[in-house]
Amino acid sequence: MLTEKYSLPLENKKMPKPKLKLGFYGITGCAGCLLSVIFNEDEILDLIQLVDLKAFPFIKEVNPDEQFDYVFMEGLVADKGDLEELEKLRQNTRYIVSLGACACTGCVPAYRQFTLKENYEHLLYRKQKEVEDIQPTPIDAHVKVDYYIPGCPPDKREIVTFIKNIAIGKEPKPYENPVCVECRKNGNQCLLDLGKPCLGPITAGGCNSVCINGNFECWGCRGPTKDMNLPLMIKILKEKGFDDKFIQDRMRTFAGLKLPMLEQFFNVKVNVKC
Ligand code: SF4
Ligand code: SF4
Ligand code: SF4
Repeated sequence: MLTEKYSLPLENKKMPKPKLKLGFYGITGCAGCLLSVIFNEDEILDLIQLVDLKAFPFIKEVNPDEQFDYVFMEGLVADKGDLEELEKLRQNTRYIVSLGACACTGCVPAYRQFTLKENYEHLLYRKQKEVEDIQPTPIDAHVKVDYYIPGCPPDKREIVTFIKNIAIGKEPKPYENPVCVECRKNGNQCLLDLGKPCLGPITAGGCNSVCINGNFECWGCRGPTKDMNLPLMIKILKEKGFDDKFIQDRMRTFAGLKLPMLEQFFNVKVNVKC
């Protein structure tokens, strides 16, 4: 005969929900995005209580055979090893989060696609022949990506908010407005009006216009907005006196692979000898 305790229906017992299993990984990149996670000094210990942190370079053993709910991936695919690791992790996780500009757009390392080899060859490691080089590309060129946290590096508060949201089952929402919206709210003088080549109007915000707050123009590290007006941005920059090469070069620095339509607006192509 069952005791009262054991005869309770299952749904009446309060079972604690298992914590989400998270893994952080890095392929070709500089580790700056991963450091943005750790540098949440005030909140990192609280965050670790909310989730089950299974893998994190420098902190926990990195085991790509683990099964995850979310894998946060820093870096872009630049060699065969990157691709193999990414594909394996994709198989072992429910969701992949593209963490930072390298993973989201290809960032500065992908600029190699827009210049000649002779411009950078001398900068490569001597052991370059041992690396099975492939065209540098963001991770969504190879696997399905579920969420994007852009930026070089990403805003650390955005990472915290993302993790807190998924921990309570709330769908994370990307910031949709261009950088100009936050810039105006912050009361900055417009750098375009001062003749500086700011890409804020076509760049996704969410960084609190940090560069313009410090009097530096936006270079577009968070990638283009979905509804950007690229022809108007180019027209404005041309009217300010910037030439075709400069504009293409600037727009391609962080997000060139996400602007494949750029060439149609120019007579001069950038991928020439520097
Ligand atoms: S996005 Fe920036 S900070 Fe992150 S890995 Fe790439 S270069 Fe480093
Ligand atoms: S400074 Fe740049 S981001 Fe700010 S309003 Fe002007 S164009 Fe937009
Ligand atoms: S202002 Fe532009 S370049 Fe600076 S962090 Fe924001 S998106 Fe990146």
